[in-house]
Amino acid sequence: MTVPLLDLQAQYQPLRQPLLDALTRVADSQRFIMGPEVDAFEREVAQVVDVRHAIGVSSGTDALLAALMALGVGPGDEVVTSTFSFFATAGAIARVGARPVLVDIDPDSFNIDVVAAARACTARTKVLLPVHLFGQAADMSAVLALADEYKLLVIEDAAQAIGATDHGGKVGGIGQLGCFSFFPSKNLGAFGDAGLVTTNDDELAHKVRLLRNHGMEPKYHHALIGGNFRLDAIQAAVLRVKLPHLTDWTEGRRRNAAQYRALFADTDLQDQVRLPFERDDRFHIYNQFVIRATDRDGLKAHLDAAGIGTEIYYPVPFHRQACFAHLGYTPAQFPHAEQAAAEVLALPIYPELTIDQQRYVVETIAAYYRK
Ligand SMILES: *Cc1c(COP(=O)(O)O)cnc(C)c1O
Repeated sequence: MTVPLLDLQAQYQPLRQPLLDALTRVADSQRFIMGPEVDAFEREVAQVVDVRHAIGVSSGTDALLAALMALGVGPGDEVVTSTFSFFATAGAIARVGARPVLVDIDPDSFNIDVVAAARACTARTKVLLPVHLFGQAADMSAVLALADEYKLLVIEDAAQAIGATDHGGKVGGIGQLGCFSFFPSKNLGAFGDAGLVTTNDDELAHKVRLLRNHGMEPKYHHALIGGNFRLDAIQAAVLRVKLPHLTDWTEGRRRNAAQYRALFADTDLQDQVRLPFERDDRFHIYNQFVIRATDRDGLKAHLDAAGIGTEIYYPVPFHRQACFAHLGYTPAQFPHAEQAAAEVLALPIYPELTIDQQRYVVETIAAYYRK
């Protein structure tokens, strides 16, 4: 048996015809830039995320960039974020000329430690940028309380978390701006790169709309300096076919997570494997099912040899990246992120995964530690 980390064919095959029809529709229209597909997708996805405004952009990275630009973040500003995320989170902050202020994670959730974030705030802090890592919301009530205390703005990196909630509130609509990615491995994946900015603020929505198209309004008049952050009509058309299935796919991932918990409960791996922490008040959408494992690298090699795909998200926290050496951090400042980087391993969790495949994954892990 082989178990890939992600099997996009399993999602594609049953939707092949409507997806190809959507591509044909755009090809036949020859309208590739903006237009009705993008407009319709924005309306439809705004309902799903439960926000007033959804603005399609070219990627999750560009969503973060446009959001930071819309808030006027630049040189002299500090943006507080977690050191343990995909690179784009910190990269976008640095690209607008601001300083990424890195803080450690809460070891249970892998999300930003808001107490550490409070200690990191200075007079130059402008934005808090929590990440909803692996599909589980950060502690947004604490983030909002901190933002309120220091008069900070909040951008949510919800790239991995479409549909996740914190105390019933959908991520992406809790802070001033939310950023999503439709990279193919995210829960809602395009046929390439695509992203989204969400907000409930009319003025910010207008600004993001301008920024994604060179700050242009009307044509050839530029009040702002933006970029080309537009969402392709082809990607919008693909996403419109997939969007109605998102709830089912999320349920599939959550069912698989519950099944892993039941399967691991029947093993005696409590000392070797720690399962992801799930809270009742946060709806986890399991973009990744990330365990902590002793002798993680040995386990990963054993699973690779057994035909089971896994991945390490993320082996090198931001504070150890060469491009951020000038920030002057040391690993000792981030013990929880360091420990996570050494222990984490993402197991296959995609919706179409079968119970037999999951059994094989858990049995293979158990066999490794019996050796
Ligand atoms: C995927 C991801 C991004 C970037 O999204 P792209 O669409 O790949 O540019 C940003 N932040 C996080 C946490 C991500 O997982």
